[in-house]
Amino acid sequence: MTTTSVLYLFDIDGTLLRAHGAGARSLDAVFAARWGVTGAMRGIDAGGRTDPWLVDQVFVQRLGRHATAAEIDEILAAYVPALARELEASSTLRVLPHVPDVLDALARRDDVHVGLATGNIEAGARVKLGAAGLLDRFAFGGYGCDSADRAALVARAIERGEARAGAPCPRERVVVVGDTVHDIAAARACGVRVVAVATGWTSLETLEAAGADAVMPDLSTLPDWHAATLA
Ligand SMILES: [Mg+2]
Repeated sequence: MTTTSVLYLFDIDGTLLRAHGAGARSLDAVFAARWGVTGAMRGIDAGGRTDPWLVDQVFVQRLGRHATAAEIDEILAAYVPALARELEASSTLRVLPHVPDVLDALARRDDVHVGLATGNIEAGARVKLGAAGLLDRFAFGGYGCDSADRAALVARAIERGEARAGAPCPRERVVVVGDTVHDIAAARACGVRVVAVATGWTSLETLEAAGADAVMPDLSTLPDWHAATLA
């Protein structure tokens, strides 16, 4: 019997790890140095948003206009080394409970391909996952550098996952795993499944109301959900 592959697409912040503001502090530092803006990220809710969207929001809220594509690229190029320094200096990054075990369990299934669908740009994702010791767990992904629109980056992650699997993957066998209503909306826009986990900043009740296929207090029950739903 041939088994069709399953693609898992993991969000990073609030789903795999919490960096406790390191990303925002790094953007603050870059905006202070480049634009003389203090507290650039104050009052901006980064949850589920993409890095280019956040940079544009800072421009709108602090500078009164949208950023150009070149300005977004310039800020994010300076952000990556700032993030690496911030994570090294602050050691506030924490891998969320059960994450390594769940990734181990998924990796044991040869029909499962595990990738990322994150609003982080790829270089920033690599810095965070490297600091978390999780960098080698993800073979492909969709990133904030693919699009400021989360649904578009999920679509890119699916394309890359299918290339990795070597075959098209039915949409009911693609699973976005994330911690915000934006992860849920992006998965819905792509017609794929979505598991929401309440380890970020959004409550179980809000994630349920947003229409996730499954909502979990943490990732420990994901292997059981997989066995019941997709195995
Ligand atoms: Mg998140």
